[in-house]
Amino acid sequence: MFLSRIAPVQAIVLRTASWREKDRLLVLLTKERGKVFALAQGAQVPQNRLAPATQIGTIAAFWLARAREFDRVTDYRIEQLLTRIRRDALALTAFCIVSELIELTVPLEANDEEMFNEVLWFVGRLEEGASPTKWLVAIQIRLLWRLGWMPHLLSCSSCGSKLDKEQIAFAPSVGGSICDRCQVSKMPADVQFFHIASLQAIYSLWQQPRLIETIHLRPNLWQQALILLQNHWRYHTEAESKAWKVWQQFTFARISQPVTRQGQLSPPPCR
Ligand SMILES: [Zn+2]
Repeated sequence: MFLSRIAPVQAIVLRTASWREKDRLLVLLTKERGKVFALAQGAQVPQNRLAPATQIGTIAAFWLARAREFDRVTDYRIEQLLTRIRRDALALTAFCIVSELIELTVPLEANDEEMFNEVLWFVGRLEEGASPTKWLVAIQIRLLWRLGWMPHLLSCSSCGSKLDKEQIAFAPSVGGSICDRCQVSKMPADVQFFHIASLQAIYSLWQQPRLIETIHLRPNLWQQALILLQNHWRYHTEAESKAWKVWQQFTFARISQPVTRQGQLSPPPCR
């Protein structure tokens, strides 16, 4: 059977990198083929016809030609350009954290249309103005769940008992939260304590991601929720997130230097 070498995919550009002198390498999350690396030849040259579609956050149909090393972009039709991540550095950083995680964990050439549609839904909410913090909590727990790494949150990962104390012990190495009794028999080395409200918020957003519009929590409890999720990712991926470091600088800087220094913060973590 003859298979065409060029086929279209619907995709979102997760990351772009300079490649050789003039090319750009794109990391795409596609509806049809999962994660794909594709080369846009000449796209570092501003007048190049592929250049407009090779920006992070572009949602487009790409026509890809199969090639030995990377697919090559032959044509595209832009569906949406995300504008918020170009003017809101915190939103960009949140997007980059998620991009890194997807690039790290989603397999090449493994189509998962539901995941693609959900990521697209989340990207739409970010574009519409969702709080980057709540957005980041919600999309991370949904991705963890989709990848089979859903942590136990409000029940003990060892004995299953319901947890209701104010401070909950959480250890990625045992699969999540752990009750007092089970801690006695096996206290995991990576245990950390989190306020139950942070875990409840994560759980609620896993059940109903739409709650990002209405759910409220004190800022430090959101921050705890994010730290818990980062710990859990780090355990599974064994990788440090560059974008997460930038996020921490941002949020720390916002607490200690509220307004005047904002323009001097670190550059965006990916591009
Ligand atoms: Zn237990």
